[in-house]
Amino acid sequence: LQSKLPDVGVSIFSQMTALAQETGAINLAQGFPDYDPPQELLEALARHARTPGHHQYAPMPGLPRLREAIAAQVARLQPDAPAPDPATEITITAGATEALYAVLAAVVRPGDEVVVFEPAYDLYGPAIRLQGGVPRYVRLPSPHFRPDWDAVRRVVSARTRLVMVNTPHNPSGAVFTPEDWDALDKLLAGTNALVLSDEVYEHLVFDSASRMSARQHPALRERSFVLSSFGKTYHATGWKVGYCIAPPSLSTEVRRVHQFLTFAVSTPTQHALADALEADPTDAHARGLAPFYQQKRDQFRTLLATGGWDLLPVPGGYFQLARYDAFSPASDLAFAQYLAREKGVAVVPVSAFYHDGFDEGLVRFCFAKEAATLEAAAARLR
Ligand code: PMP
Ligand code: GLN
Repeated sequence: LQSKLPDVGVSIFSQMTALAQETGAINLAQGFPDYDPPQELLEALARHARTPGHHQYAPMPGLPRLREAIAAQVARLQPDAPAPDPATEITITAGATEALYAVLAAVVRPGDEVVVFEPAYDLYGPAIRLQGGVPRYVRLPSPHFRPDWDAVRRVVSARTRLVMVNTPHNPSGAVFTPEDWDALDKLLAGTNALVLSDEVYEHLVFDSASRMSARQHPALRERSFVLSSFGKTYHATGWKVGYCIAPPSLSTEVRRVHQFLTFAVSTPTQHALADALEADPTDAHARGLAPFYQQKRDQFRTLLATGGWDLLPVPGGYFQLARYDAFSPASDLAFAQYLAREKGVAVVPVSAFYHDGFDEGLVRFCFAKEAATLEAAAARLR
């Protein structure tokens, strides 16, 4: 068989997790918390697992009660945007991963161009290419990783079908400002291009960084697929439940793919998440995520700063980027392997987020970890 993705190997996240297991290194590589979802959510899942009748296919777009609970929460958290219609605008997917794939499969035709900001989550480029699409990469300049809109303008054309944005951004934590959304809107006005806004870290915005979804920009909302993930929001990356919010005509197309990709998502899990949302009408959990992760970020930065690491700013998300040129001239992959084998801490080399392997000497740490884990890792890294 001739591979459709001959250049794609095992994802860097799986590679570094395997290296952590082999070496006994603390895994700050793959992005997942080392703590469990809230107790009430675990109890809800156990309750629904024991409920007869909750074990067959859920409705294709997702359980109505979960979609209604999401619509209500989004309406509370984004009061300046019209509430999404749960019947026609919200689709529950098997993680944001499935939503990404379903959107790309729904809108990208062979030869269509898709604008991708790099560093980019590893799935974006290969998933575009599997649809016959052509990624047009635009580099985000370090250390702030904010888009240079003049550079973006140079790759947008009549061939642009989709622009993919990710805010807060993995791996840098950069957050789109209202001015960024305006710049994107200006660039796309008068074109038929659509926007995929990957907002899986939507609640993890720190300090005074702006908290704005593509949905809150009136013009962009009409052309945007907005993605979120309960994996990030409820510390449940293994549950693989996410969702896509988009205007009815766009949601119809996502559902056309979703019904043949997974058809529906695990039923008891959806019930448990609906319980959690219904039981929290003030969104205390979602609103608590920013202070919770900001405290972890600050703890980790304080611990690492005393070790001489050059830390990049982290306005959002749960990753810390660091420059290691004071320690080593090695490539980021070689340095990451050295850290796992010799220092006992696994990280991700940032070159893995570039299609051409661009390496500016950065590694990524995940700080979604217990305080004791962060302390132990920092002690090894000093
Ligand atoms: N997009 C980004 C930017 C991510 O970091 C992740 C999680 N690693 C995903 C999408 C996938 O989310 P999920 O686990 O819900 O499939
Ligand atoms: N999104 C997670 C990360 O960036 C990993 C998800 C995965 O392993 N596919 O680390």
